[in-house]
Amino acid sequence: MYPSSFDLTVARSVAEATAALSEGGEDARILAGGQSLIPMMKLRFAFPSLLVDINEIAELASLERQNGELRVGATVRHADVAASDLAFGAVAAAAPWVADPLVRNRGTLVGSVAHCDPEGDWNSVLLATGATVQIAGADGSERSIPITELIVGPFTNSLGEGEMLTAVHVPVPSGASGGAYLKLERKVGDYATVGVATHLELDEDGRISSAGIALTSVAPSNLKATEAESVLIGESPSGELFAEAASLTADAAEPRSDIRGTAEWKRNVVRVYTRRGLEQALSQARSS
Ligand SMILES: Cc1cc2nc3c(=O)[nH]c(=O)nc-3n(C[C@H](O)[C@H](O)[C@H](O)COP(=O)(O)OP(=O)(O)OC[C@H]3O[C@@H](n4cnc5c(N)ncnc54)[C@H](O)[C@@H]3O)c2cc1C
Repeated sequence: MYPSSFDLTVARSVAEATAALSEGGEDARILAGGQSLIPMMKLRFAFPSLLVDINEIAELASLERQNGELRVGATVRHADVAASDLAFGAVAAAAPWVADPLVRNRGTLVGSVAHCDPEGDWNSVLLATGATVQIAGADGSERSIPITELIVGPFTNSLGEGEMLTAVHVPVPSGASGGAYLKLERKVGDYATVGVATHLELDEDGRISSAGIALTSVAPSNLKATEAESVLIGESPSGELFAEAASLTADAAEPRSDIRGTAEWKRNVVRVYTRRGLEQALSQARSS
């Protein structure tokens, strides 16, 4: 199917993009990699009157480490993250699992974050690693909020009119740390049937000083397993502790039965993947 007609503005700066968004009102949309937006427009699930293309804005294309954070600009592709030596832990683990090579070459991490698809992999990774997002507004304002405040619900973010994401910032741990992203998919390149992101940081005594666990495709939005995270913090890692955290994570999941499997089976996959993910994160942290 063809999309309904729309205007296109190619922005050369963030100020131009936010001004165009503001002028276009609630029917204006950013065009990043187009790997979610264009299919939705062709299926007539979305019919924006104006697309604001941000791909020519040079400052959005950088992937770098600065001030103790990994900064992923708004036009950095999934493939750039997968190929980068700067990515670490759960970020590096998830990148090759997003979609297929064609989609990874065009689609962006930040576009995926903005899209808030509960089956999207990145928001779980960012919830587990405690990332923040950088937002630009039409009046030249800039603000930064935790990823938890951006995700409002399925396909819904908290951006206001005229606002866009310019980057995602993932804190780079200073001490021993590790992370994993385990994804069960029906076939290569598919969305997750179940995805689990894990992140651990250890203090000098080997105790867990920070923990992150988040889930893909088993709740109405990507889900941060806060209760499971809190039982880990301050404790020495052990099989029993990870089993307890995995059980709490499985209890927090809200899977639905569908053609990919029953809710109960998915809950069990969450339990198994959480335990395995924590073990992988621990082993990475101990060798870091
Ligand atoms: C065949 C196929 C398989 C896929 N499989 C997976 C998968 O396994 N896992 C997965 O996570 N994803 C998957 N995807 C989705 C893919 O990762 C998309 O690239 C991603 O969801 C959106 O990024 P994009 O740059 O393409 O954004 P676009 O499609 O350009 O935009 C998506 C939405 O976000 C908004 N947006 C984009 N950038 C910004 C910004 N900077 N500020 C504010 N709003 C913005 C747009 O206005 C639009 O509403 C798949 C897609 C396809 C087509």
